[in-house]
Amino acid sequence: MEQLTDGHGRAIQDLRVSVTDRCNFRCQYCMPAEGIPWLEREQILTYEEIARVVGVLAAMGVHDVRLTGGEPLIRRDLPRLVAMLTSLGDVREVSITTNGFLLERDATALVEAGIARFNVSVDSLQRDRFYRLTRRDALAQVLRGLEELARHPDAHPIKINAVALRGFTEDEVPAFVELARETAYEVRFIEFMPLDGSHEWSQEQVLTGAELHALVHAVHPLDPEPREPSATARVYRFADGRGRIGFINPVSEPFCSDCNRIRLTADGHLRTCLFSLRETDLRTPLRERASDAELDEIIRRAVWRKELKHRIGEPGFVQPDRTMSAIGG
Ligand code: SAM
Ligand code: SF4
Repeated sequence: MEQLTDGHGRAIQDLRVSVTDRCNFRCQYCMPAEGIPWLEREQILTYEEIARVVGVLAAMGVHDVRLTGGEPLIRRDLPRLVAMLTSLGDVREVSITTNGFLLERDATALVEAGIARFNVSVDSLQRDRFYRLTRRDALAQVLRGLEELARHPDAHPIKINAVALRGFTEDEVPAFVELARETAYEVRFIEFMPLDGSHEWSQEQVLTGAELHALVHAVHPLDPEPREPSATARVYRFADGRGRIGFINPVSEPFCSDCNRIRLTADGHLRTCLFSLRETDLRTPLRERASDAELDEIIRRAVWRKELKHRIGEPGFVQPDRTMSAIGG
């Protein structure tokens, strides 16, 4: 079948699926303390519906699937979905992004169901600061989950993602560098994007990848690794050969030009960009028994209009209504 391609000639090969908009954390840069109104149960796609969309997309060349949320591990019986997706012929890889809180419980089941890569979000390695950022006193639990995961050779390399905030993350750099150098984890810093629940993002709060790189490089020289096509992270190797560290710089160095990603929200809407202001409803046609050919056409039409780039920092930029947790980061 013809490769799914957008109107700017980009081949779409990566799908992020939000399996729930709910979360057991309330990270400052993502959700307000009181949470946001959750979707009703019947609004959420069933596992069968998700597998149907993934199957249709995979047949068009969207081979890589990442499960996210909200917090994906709070959705009941998630390994069942993983097994359904990994058994689809055209799916090449199923990965997951999690806050790690439930990994101690679920790591084994997820690895056995076929999760190929894990990204675990950890923004601070100090208990009180972790609490301040996530509003949950959960660092020890997350670190236990990481240890449990690290026991599985199939789960490596394990990536640790930290959102970088000016006035906060600078003090975390030495500990994260130590982690990257002393363990098998690959640490990546992500620039703060305007997708926060409180709509309080400002450019001044963005601690850029270049600034972080300079902080690290001054102590431990870094050598760049070649960038893989469509990669979000710029990855560096420590010059003395001990470990790697990455920087995801969507604000200061956008990587839209070879973006190969689309997203499916928990309520079945297709988003062609994190910053899309319009979405395409797939749930209604799914529930009205649309054929694969009909879904194929709806998807191709939506993807054709995929945004050329995000416009953060440009005059007239409008932050989407959905937060990162409701989009599926
Ligand atoms: N709950 C899971 C987690 O935290 O890993 C998965 C969903 S979360 C929305 C996915 C990723 O988005 C996390 O790494 C999180 O740190 C990141 N994120 C959330 N809000 C963000 C923002 N405003 N800017 C940059 N990254 C953000
Ligand atoms: Fe939850 Fe992840 Fe958002 Fe934090 S970043 S509130 S863990 S969805």
